[in-house]
This record gives sequence, structure tokens and C-alpha cells, in this order.
Amino acid sequence: MTDRIYLDHNATTPMRPQAIAAVEEVMRGVGNASSVHSFGRAMRARVERAREAVAALVAARPADVVFTGGGTEANNSVVRGAARRRVIVSAIEHDSVRSATDDVEFIPVTSSGIVDLAALERMLAASDVPALVSVMLANNETGAIQPVAEVVRIARAAGAAVHCDAVQAAGKIAIDMPTLGVDYLSLSAHKLGGPQGVGAVVLRADAPFNAMARGGGQERGRRAGTENVAGAAGFGVAAAIARENLDGIAGLSALRDGMERDLARIAPDICFYGADTARLPNTSCVAMPGVPATTQLMAFDLAGIAVSAGSACSSGKVSASHVLAAMGAGAGEAASALRVSLGWTTQAGDIARFVAAWHEVYRRLSPAARPATVAA
Ligand code: PLP
Repeated sequence: MTDRIYLDHNATTPMRPQAIAAVEEVMRGVGNASSVHSFGRAMRARVERAREAVAALVAARPADVVFTGGGTEANNSVVRGAARRRVIVSAIEHDSVRSATDDVEFIPVTSSGIVDLAALERMLAASDVPALVSVMLANNETGAIQPVAEVVRIARAAGAAVHCDAVQAAGKIAIDMPTLGVDYLSLSAHKLGGPQGVGAVVLRADAPFNAMARGGGQERGRRAGTENVAGAAGFGVAAAIARENLDGIAGLSALRDGMERDLARIAPDICFYGADTARLPNTSCVAMPGVPATTQLMAFDLAGIAVSAGSACSSGKVSASHVLAAMGAGAGEAASALRVSLGWTTQAGDIARFVAAWHEVYRRLSPAARPATVAA
């Protein structure tokens, strides 16, 4: 097999070499960041330097960054820690928001996968119970960018707090937390070139936040436990590189759009979800009607190409996509959708090979491409 091609950057993207070096350097050292001796102080300095870089990525204050064990923990800790009795989330949120607590209410989305602001307004008007509204900045499956500043305007008028899961958006588009106006923002290092298993909650100054993990008082009492210094250091370096490289990621849209044009020429029955709205530059959600995504996945894997199906970033399982269902896609159609996500290592040649492989899979498996059988 020739070189394998990785087009699953929304699941996780390769670590930046500089981030790997930072992780290794910390791991070769010793010291608990809470210790007062010089070893501990050196580790503390690494954590605080990383905090500054992560804060800068979203134009926040370093003191408002709380390191977590990843995006899932960040989302869980906000939904549970914001101390609001009512939780209203968009229907296309990641499972780590949707399932963070019981009795979540879902805001519908349009057929383009954009949160329905009028519906949110109605939901908030229906009750005086203090609410937390959670709407992601960009969707992990379609890349659709959500009108978060508008969500904040509506929520504020109703006295609700707002959380934004920016895990997929960070490092792909510029984020300015004060302009967005949200109270809580979630980030994950491994989606932007840092290590897996480290993330952050970024708070608006003084936003109430009840710690999920209590004990040692680390992270200003907002997340107890000895700091993951190596993880934070890798996150910080990746965040700084991501901030410098936003133009490079923006440039991926030319490759993605060219790919979609090529695929549409091959298959007139093709469907791209969320393509009629503002999207992340790297994401394409593409259906090959009549061919199950699992079949396509295996065919592409055999061709050495990694893409993903449905909400497949969870433990290798391929389940029906709640995102596409919320957009009103029929079950059959949604079951044939793949997510192709480009990243900082993607080259034009990778896309050319993917288009050629897609053409071959379409020719072999698509009912639309097979010649009609003539009854004897
Ligand atoms: N939120 C979104 C939108 C995601 O895409 C993901 C991961 O796929 C997460 C949260 C979870 O992040 P982590 O893998 O760091 O737990």
C-alpha cells in the first residue's frame, strides 16, 4: 500500500512536533507544580506559561483558564457546575454536552444545521427557572458555525447563562471570547495539535463555577488534582502555533471546496450537509446515497484512507448521527454520510487520491452508478 492518508482531523489531529518536544521535556523532568522547591516552581512556570497561551488563543485572561482532562470533562463540568436548574442545549451538541446531565431540553436546528434562534427565544420565555444555554461554536460533523453572539443576546435578555463548546472551532477559526460574550467556553488540546486528555474551561470573569473534582485546591479550587504539567505544556505550545496558523487552516477551504466540486461532477445525486451555510474551512459531510457509511469506511480504509462516519469520534462505534437527524435528513440518507476533515498535514495530493478512491467506490457500489439491469 502506498502512504496512508489521514482525513479525520476532527476526530484528532497530529500533534505539532514542538508540542511533542514540550511534553517530552516536562516528562523528563520532575516536580509537582504545587511544591514550593525549585523543581516544583519550574513545573508551575510551565503550567502558567501554557495558561497564558491558551488564554491568548481565545482572547481571555489567563486567570480564567481552568485546565481539565479534555473537552468532555470541560463540557461536563460546565453543564453541572454552572449551577443552573434548567439546561437548554442545541440538538446538535456533542454527546458530552447532551448527556452531561438529565432533563436536558433541546433547541431544534434548521435544515442547514444552524440553531433555531426563534425556538430558543420561545423556550426561554416559557419559564422563569434560571437556565444555562449551551450552543457549540462549530459542529463536529458538518462544520456549521453557530450564531453564538446572537444566542448570547437572546439568553442575556432572559437572564440565562451561556456555555459554548468551542472544541472543534478552536485553531480553525479566530475566537474572541469577550466579543462572543459567553460565560463559559470549552477547549480540547488534541483537536488543535496538542496531546489527548487535556483541555480547558475558560470562564468569563466571576462566572459561577462549582468544581466537579474537589480536594487539593489546584486550579484556584476549580479543579482539584495534581496538574498534568506535560499535557498543559503541550496544549500551550499547540495553542500558540494554532493562533499563528489560522490563515493556513483557512486556506484548507480551497482544497475542501475543490474536492466537493470534483465529487459533485462524479455523482449528480451527491449531498453535502451544511454546505449552504458558513462552515469550518476543513470539514465536509458528504453522502453517497444508497451506500452505507460503514461499507464506504471499510472500502476507504482498504485504500489506505481514514475518514469517519456519523458521530464516530466515540470509541469506534458507528451510530446514527443525531446531528443529521436533527437537520431533518432521512435515516437512509444520513446513514450514507461520511465526514471528511482536513488538517495542517493535508496536501493537495491527499485530496486527489481521496477523490479518485471515492470515484472508484461510487462506481462499484452506488445504485445510481450501476447500469440498470434488463429483465430477461
Ligand atoms: N466537543 C466536541 C464538539 C467534539 O468534537 C469533541 C470530540 O470529538 C468533544 C467535545 C470531546 O473532546 P475530548 O475528546 O477532548 O473529550
